[in-house]
Formats: sequence, C-alpha cells, structure tokens
Amino acid sequence: NLFQEYGLSEDLLKAITELGYTQPTDIQKQTIPYLLSKEEDIIALAQTGTGKTAAFSLPILEMIDSEQKNVQALVLCPTRELCLQISKDIASYSKHMTNIRSLAVYGGSSITEQIRGLKSNPQIVIGTPGRVNDMLKRGVLKINHIQWLILDEADEMLSMGFKNELETILIETPKERQTLLFSATMSKQVEKIAKGYMKGAHKISA
Ligand code: AMP
Repeated sequence: NLFQEYGLSEDLLKAITELGYTQPTDIQKQTIPYLLSKEEDIIALAQTGTGKTAAFSLPILEMIDSEQKNVQALVLCPTRELCLQISKDIASYSKHMTNIRSLAVYGGSSITEQIRGLKSNPQIVIGTPGRVNDMLKRGVLKINHIQWLILDEADEMLSMGFKNELETILIETPKERQTLLFSATMSKQVEKIAKGYMKGAHKISA
C-alpha cells in the first residue's frame, strides 16, 4: 500500500495495519511524503475527521531522534480533550517503537504532575497554548530544540484568545523549525500568524 511506498518504518506500518488503516486519507497523501522530504512549512486547510492527526504524527515519528532527550516536536491545540486525543493517537502509532515518549499538558489539571512528566524527557509535547506558556514562564519546559511546531485547529486557538501565547511560542522556538499549521478556516487572524511567522508555506486543502 501507499504507506509502505512512503518508506515508513516497519514499526509504524505494523501499528497502522493494526489500526485497520489500509490507505492514506487525502490529507495524509498530501502531507506525509512532503514532510518526509521537504523542510518548507505547511498550511493545511482541513476539518476534523480528515485524518490530520496521523498526517503530521506519522512523518514526525518517522524522523524523530529517539536517542535525544530534548523536546523535538511541540503540538499546540485548543482544548484538553484534543490534547488527550492527539496524545492517545501518537501513543498508538508509536506503540511498537522504543524510547518514544510524549506528554500532554493542559489547564484544569495539576501542573505539578505535568512538570513531573517532563522528567521522563518526552520528545513530543502536546499542549494547550496557555499551559505551555505557563510552563515556559516557570522555566521547566525548554523549547529551544524544537524541530517541528504543529498548530492544530489554529483558527480555534485564535478565536479562543490565545494569540499572545501562540506568538510567544512562535518567537521562542528555533527559526530553523518546520511549522505545520492546520485550520478548518483561513481567518484573517490565521493569515496574520502565517504571514508573520511561517516561511514559504506550502498550501494544502483536504
Ligand atoms: P482525525 O482527523 O485526525 O481526527 O482522524 C479522524 C479518524 O480517522 C480517527 O479516528 C483516525 O483514527 C481515523 N484515520 C486516520 N487515518 C486513517 C486512515 N488512513 N484510514 C482509516 N482511518 C483513519
């Protein structure tokens, strides 16, 4: 199948097969081979249910350095529920991989516990912009080795008032990062973020 043609590792292919995915969805076809071969940013107009989580998670899991202890991928999303869902999906895609650790951080839950979670040196952090900023201010979360920054449901995060938090994170992550922006709509606010903080973004819609 196409997942094999993309050159994904056996560990990932096994997990995908077990989940019953036989072919990539439209957005996955547009995103997976692109991310595996290019460094330009991506702006994807995509609704929930299109398979966008696997679209960014699979190539990142393929490329991440499991030997490294730094946070290499940061996924930002608007709600606790979405954080937990993405976290669960990443865990299922990586279940046959060794040494991949991810952590979900969100408000309304003990920050002390989440800070303790950082001690396991996750390579992937999935968080809401508010809680991520809080952890940055406390100096407990380091984002200076981020290689992939994913803004999931960017329009939602902006309409919830997370503009300043997003900008802080965009400024504090390395310029060499690859930014992937997913949004159901291209609002003015989303366009502004894309213009201000993304480079040569490749546009996709699914
Ligand atoms: P998402 O848009 O990421 O919320 O995904 C929507 C649903 O589609 C989730 O339940 C995924 O497990 C499922 N899914 C993602 N990719 C595929 C695929 N290639 N084949 C079948 N189901 C998939």
